[in-house]
Amino acid sequence: MNKTSSHSPIHIVGGGLAGSEAAWQIASAGVPVILHEMRGVRGTDAHKTDHLAELVCSNSFRSDDATANAVGVIHAEMRMAGSLIMACADRHQVPAGGALAVDRDGFSAAVTKEIDNHPLITVVREEVTGLPPKEWDLAIVATGPLTAPDLATAIQAETGADALAFFDAIAPIVYRESIDMDICWYQSRYDKVGPGGTGKDYINCPMDEAQYNAFVSALIDGDTVGFKEWEGTPYFDGCLPIEIMAERGRETLRHGPMKPMGLTNEHNPTVKAYAVVQLRQDNALGTLYNMVGFQTKLKYGAQADIFRMIPGLQNAEFARLGGLHRNTYINSPTLLDHSLTLKSRPGLRFAGQITGCEGYVESASIGLLAGRFAAAERKGEAVSLPPATTALGALLGHITGGHLVTDEEPGKRSFQPMNINFGLFPELEPGSIVKPEGVKRFRGKDKTIMKRQLVAKRALAACAEWLAQSVPVIEAEAETV
Ligand SMILES: Cc1cc2nc3c(=O)[nH]c(=O)nc-3n(C[C@H](O)[C@H](O)[C@H](O)COP(=O)(O)OP(=O)(O)OC[C@H]3O[C@@H](n4cnc5c(N)ncnc54)[C@H](O)[C@@H]3O)c2cc1C
Repeated sequence: MNKTSSHSPIHIVGGGLAGSEAAWQIASAGVPVILHEMRGVRGTDAHKTDHLAELVCSNSFRSDDATANAVGVIHAEMRMAGSLIMACADRHQVPAGGALAVDRDGFSAAVTKEIDNHPLITVVREEVTGLPPKEWDLAIVATGPLTAPDLATAIQAETGADALAFFDAIAPIVYRESIDMDICWYQSRYDKVGPGGTGKDYINCPMDEAQYNAFVSALIDGDTVGFKEWEGTPYFDGCLPIEIMAERGRETLRHGPMKPMGLTNEHNPTVKAYAVVQLRQDNALGTLYNMVGFQTKLKYGAQADIFRMIPGLQNAEFARLGGLHRNTYINSPTLLDHSLTLKSRPGLRFAGQITGCEGYVESASIGLLAGRFAAAERKGEAVSLPPATTALGALLGHITGGHLVTDEEPGKRSFQPMNINFGLFPELEPGSIVKPEGVKRFRGKDKTIMKRQLVAKRALAACAEWLAQSVPVIEAEAETV
């Protein structure tokens, strides 16, 4: 118990973006917190200071446009929910056009000061080397992508060896609506139905020989991002970057992830494709498709250009581009319940990047939710989940169940880290997108912008209702139709 609260404390391991936000939310609910952060005693390979919520790389929180950008929407929702991370970011903003960028030192110094000065929060500088002990009846693990090895081993012992990954191998994800189905077709290889399938589970993009050769050359010539020295080179044959496979021989991809066997192009059944790129449904909503086997270290700009060479993906919009990084994250869709609690250990929640979200803002937002849920549990109140139509709810839903688990190959998991994006939100009611009066040409791009604006507006209204607040007034700054 704490001198200003009758509640027992909630323990948080990790004072990064997620842990700091979780601590703030819990303390704001009148519940004491003990925040265990190892920096100051032991560093990580990427952090440079012992400040809480240090930004390890870029100083950008990405777009701040809440009218038509999913990241901007989650910013607005976090502000509504009293986020410390957003308040300090807003106070330490530096000019960056439509993005929210911050003075990194001013930002993390401000978070540290607010946490240190809060009467209900105690910061303990120590490494936690095992799972939170049972006497910490309510705890949150928010140790991030660089979780210290002893704790990672303990998490692995609790969850199973395959349930904790130390690298991500991210294949790009494409918005279903941006795929040209006049070129592509639905079919599983050899029409296999499999468990839970229909025989038409993949979207297939056909290539002829000239297109394939041009594509392989572009992959080999594309600019790549190197690994940091401390990351090592984590290639293993099950998840080689697509450009490394291309370098191994011109035919390698045609015999690997781009093999055309067992597939018949329904638009041109008599001509056998020379190679086929397959995309697999990634979320239960069916709005996102994952480019199977296309994990890559190509730079983002190169990826978009090269992958749009694939027939059917010429106008592809990417919800997430590919990557391969040092990361530590659990298989949340199978391990966590809807309020981020480890199913095998009631009272123990996970938050931040270790849950399989990606990015500063997303990590902080999952910390915000874990903190609110833990505080409600401590106070004996019902845990209130954000509606699925909010950005917070869409991201939470994806992590804890929205991703389609397709563990078709033993030892291989399909769940990979995810940013917030519009593909995670439920579809609008049919008929919501209507051509505005007086507009002559209403093209696909206009419809996409209008859809995003409507989804954003619906999200903010649902979030305001969830938090019993009025809807914030947000000025449109993006393209409007
Ligand atoms: C090298 C790198 C670069 C990145 N660049 C970006 C970027 O530019 N933009 C972006 O949006 N995202 C980036 N990310 C992704 C990610 O969003 C950030 O890492 C983010 O900080 C994650 O927030 P978090 O709170 O989950 O983890 P962190 O912010 O890393 O916080 C975790 C905290 O837990 C502490 N800790 C770990 N183990 C223990 C232990 N056993 N006991 C006590 N404390 C412990 C750590 O010291 C750390 O302070 C990057 C990640 C990495 C690794």
